[in-house]
Amino acid sequence: MNHESVKQLSFSDAPDSFFRSSISRKTGWIFVLVLMVATANIVVVKHMLSDLNDVAATLNVSGKLRMLSQKIAFETLNLSLSPRQSGKQAVSDDIRDFEAALMALRQGGSVFGYNIPQLDIQHQSRLHKVRGEWVAYRGAIEDMLAKLAPFGQPAAGQSEFAGLARDAAIVLASTENLISFIVTETQKVQQRGLLKLYALLVLDILILAAIFVAIRRNIVRPLQDLSAYCGALAVGNYQVRSRFQSFDEIGQLSAAFNHSAQRIGDLLDHVEQERQSLVRAETMFRQLAENSGVGVYIVKDEHFHFANAKMAAMFGYEPTEMMASVGIFDIVTSDDRQVVRESIRSRLDGELREVHYERQACRKDGSQFEVEVFGSKMQIDGHDVTIGVMLDISRRKETEREGQLAALVYQNTSEAMMVTDAHGTIVTVNPAFTEITGYPAMEAIGLNIKILSSGKQDQAFYQTMWHAINTTGKWQGELWNRRKNGELYAERLVINTSFNEDGTVYRRIALFSDVTDQKQNESLIWEQANFDFLTGLPNRMMFHNRLKQEIQKSQRVALPLALIFLDLDNFKGVNDTLGHVIGDELLKQTAQRLRSCVRGSDMVARLGGDEFTLILAELSEISVVENIARKILQALAEPYLLAGEELYVSASIGITFYPEDAGTPEELLKNADQAMYAAKDSGRNRFSYFVRSMQEVAQSRCRLARDLRLALASAQFCLHYQPIVNLATGAIDKAEALIRWQHPERGMVNPAEFIPVAEETGMINALGDWVFRTAAQQAVQWRTLLGTQFQVSINTSAVQFRRDGIRPDDWLAWLQELGLAGDGIVIEITEGLLLDAGSVVTDTLLAFREAGIAVSIDDFGTGYSSLSYLKKFNIDYLKIDQSFVRNLVPESSDLALCEAMIVMAHKLGIKVIAEGVESAQQRDLLRAAGCDYAQGYLFSRPVVAVDFPVSV
Ligand code: C2E
Ligand code: MG
Ligand code: MG
Repeated sequence: MNHESVKQLSFSDAPDSFFRSSISRKTGWIFVLVLMVATANIVVVKHMLSDLNDVAATLNVSGKLRMLSQKIAFETLNLSLSPRQSGKQAVSDDIRDFEAALMALRQGGSVFGYNIPQLDIQHQSRLHKVRGEWVAYRGAIEDMLAKLAPFGQPAAGQSEFAGLARDAAIVLASTENLISFIVTETQKVQQRGLLKLYALLVLDILILAAIFVAIRRNIVRPLQDLSAYCGALAVGNYQVRSRFQSFDEIGQLSAAFNHSAQRIGDLLDHVEQERQSLVRAETMFRQLAENSGVGVYIVKDEHFHFANAKMAAMFGYEPTEMMASVGIFDIVTSDDRQVVRESIRSRLDGELREVHYERQACRKDGSQFEVEVFGSKMQIDGHDVTIGVMLDISRRKETEREGQLAALVYQNTSEAMMVTDAHGTIVTVNPAFTEITGYPAMEAIGLNIKILSSGKQDQAFYQTMWHAINTTGKWQGELWNRRKNGELYAERLVINTSFNEDGTVYRRIALFSDVTDQKQNESLIWEQANFDFLTGLPNRMMFHNRLKQEIQKSQRVALPLALIFLDLDNFKGVNDTLGHVIGDELLKQTAQRLRSCVRGSDMVARLGGDEFTLILAELSEISVVENIARKILQALAEPYLLAGEELYVSASIGITFYPEDAGTPEELLKNADQAMYAAKDSGRNRFSYFVRSMQEVAQSRCRLARDLRLALASAQFCLHYQPIVNLATGAIDKAEALIRWQHPERGMVNPAEFIPVAEETGMINALGDWVFRTAAQQAVQWRTLLGTQFQVSINTSAVQFRRDGIRPDDWLAWLQELGLAGDGIVIEITEGLLLDAGSVVTDTLLAFREAGIAVSIDDFGTGYSSLSYLKKFNIDYLKIDQSFVRNLVPESSDLALCEAMIVMAHKLGIKVIAEGVESAQQRDLLRAAGCDYAQGYLFSRPVVAVDFPVSV
């Protein structure tokens, strides 16, 4: 209660004696007081009146006294003049009355019918004087009377009368004096009486005023104040208090009011508190309900009496709409209606106070979702209602289902899962964890993840990993860990973090799988992808990657790099003659030798076959490259010990520089390749630097390829024919068709120049087809002209024996069309074709053989033919390469070789043709050696068909 606001009604404190009595007693007191005042007034007035009466009586008596004194004198005188008895008696009576009056005046008493009081002491002296004079007077009277003649005669003379008159006058004067005093006294008495009356009036006024004041103070004002107090109470100021205290009814009324006000105030405070707590409760309820994340509802008579915004939104309604028109059964699925009805009934009947259940609910649009309901019964306005909260638990349910699924997965997945706390202490693991690490769950839980640490990763690795985890909460990668049995294993690990609400780490979740096998496979695959299986050197792919990196590095450090391209000379021969095993061994040893020639930081790679590359990076001194090239040539020139035999192999090296010669890996490789070919062209077993002209050569080859495409269509090709002479008879038995290209700008282009280009571009197939058809036509003519033994040789490329090359059926059909027998054609192939012969080669050769077409091995001796192949493919002719013939002189090794080849061929039933015979000596030596045929400038250069010599 606010005491300051309390208005205190104050009353002046009345004397206890008065206040201690009740109102009735107080009224009695007042009545008595008034009565007393009235009585006192009456008494006083009466007393005054009495005094006045006494004064009047006294005056009367005094007057009578005076009158008697005169009367006596007159009577006496009268008697004296006319004595009579009756007169004498009258004088005696008057004397008696005079004395009685005097006596009454002196002592008080009744006289003449008046009751008079004794005169005051101050009059006594006058009375005494009157008496004294009276006595003298009476004596004079009596004397006179006594002297009275008996009847009718004057008893006294003049002197006597004079004395009597004098005495009478004296008495009269005294009585007059007395009366005058008494009158004066009476006036005083009257004055005093009047004063008394005034005093009485003043007293009355005072008393009445006192009574008025008392009544006003003790009754009227308290009543007024109480009235005001009641007024204050009436307007609701229950803090106001009456300070009036008394033992009377007003005091009791005041106390009762105070008490009532207190009670009412308390009651109102209580009511206010109740109201406020109700308001608070309602506000809280409203706030809670309106701001709640859950649906809050009150259902009354199966309708929504209240639904908060969330509740309405949950079901797709507006809150007002939901409260106005939606019933509880509108949100229940039809299957659940009965159950819900029963649930509400049991709640309202008091069987169940609270319910908690989960079930499907229907939205306004008919879609269903899962809700969780907490309902209880309460009363509103005497009505039983159900109040409850409802949660949309669809997501939770989904999460639960996912959680169950996750738990199922967790338990059954082959991926290990481990959960740790923020400090890396293992909290839980799944069975797969145990399977991979060997730690049973009970053993692992509580231990730190460091138990798995293998020490294989360096500190930097872990620093990077933890930096990622600490900044993003995530990390994934691969690392090596250790199983319980000490074995290392590779795992692919994904780490995720679960955070507390304050952002601190709650859990770290690690998922990992054992990828040891995969890693090993990958590493194998990687090795296979990047390394040459045979030599262990980086392969073409790795070389390319490394070259790219080295180019970038070279840019950074501003130091040049050298690319060396190395090709073994005649490796194919080694392979063909000594077999692949030896060839492989040769390559392995070559690789080792190459490695020994360079720094560890330099790269030696095998591109394939007998092609090697070396990257010499960060060259501060260009000249070292030449030293290395020499060193390599030297190292490779050392004899190889293969299968117990010494073998000598040389190599051709091409060298190019970055950035001087080219800017890209591809260009560099091309440059080095060209330089290597240049070295080969310059006689092999040497190195050659790339120069721009080489590039020009390559470019011209490019142009050539482009021109080739047009050449066939525009009939720029023609065939020249070179006679093949039978050495025994000197007759021209055969002719070799040699292609010529009449280039519109460049003139005649050598087949050695364009055949390889045609091979590279695949045009060789079309070209070869054209050669075959043209040569066959020529053969028809010459067979008619020169006889049916005449044969035309046609050169073929190995490329034509690939899958999309020669179609034997077409060729044979062409022969048939021309009417040319198969034996009119000889197909020249190279040695290598037989070595690499696959099914296509075999089938094609077989088809030719069956058609009677002869097969000749061109340039024999330059490659590495296997004799068994010659036998296998039923070869008809060997053409000894002109390199053996060129320097053919008696007793030369070439002659020996030629003789050996001829003998061997003959042993196999193969005829021998020598190429490039330019001199008679060569012809003679060959003939002497048993060679069957020869061709060369000695007999004729290749010529157009019309110029073809019929005989030499
Ligand atoms: P090849 O088949 O060995 O042909 C013999 C080559 O030796 C011809 O060169 C010929 O002109 C040359 N020649 C002939 N006699 C002598 C001689 O006494 N001394 C010297 N120094 N050379 C002689 P050509 O015509 O330039 O042909 C070169 C190569 O081109 C041929 O070598 C052959 O492999 C290939 N070739 C020519 N025509 C064709 C063709 O139509 N198709 C295919 N695939 N290759 C062909
Ligand atoms: Mg040939
Ligand atoms: Mg040849």
